[in-house]
Amino acid sequence: MDNNNTPHGVREKFIEVANRKKILAHRCAKCGHTMLETVMFCEKCSASKFEDVELEGAGTVVTYTIQAVAPAGFEDAGSYAWVVFKINNANIRASGFLPGIKEPKDLPVGAKVKVAGFDQHHGLLLEKA
Ligand SMILES: [Zn+2]
Repeated sequence: MDNNNTPHGVREKFIEVANRKKILAHRCAKCGHTMLETVMFCEKCSASKFEDVELEGAGTVVTYTIQAVAPAGFEDAGSYAWVVFKINNANIRASGFLPGIKEPKDLPVGAKVKVAGFDQHHGLLLEKA
């Protein structure tokens, strides 16, 4: 664990945390505001010092887009949705990939989703909770 301060290290850690079905986020060391780990400067006070926090890998669907054609590596998944969800117990939105969604009735807004893992090419992999 000697490279956690490099951008590569952050990504590796995000993946490691996602594979434990949680979401890595940043908490501002100055004001305590919690943000996605991709944010470089605090949204509230512009400070750039953060500590890592692990958020619950579950949330509520805010919006999503159904994709009829699966991207490379997901040909076997059929249609899927890119989902934006609000993380439980945090005022943060994250996005991920949810296979097997063909039409809006398959995924009502407000549905519960959880992190199932991480795909190297496509990011967070979700499943219905
Ligand atoms: Zn701050």
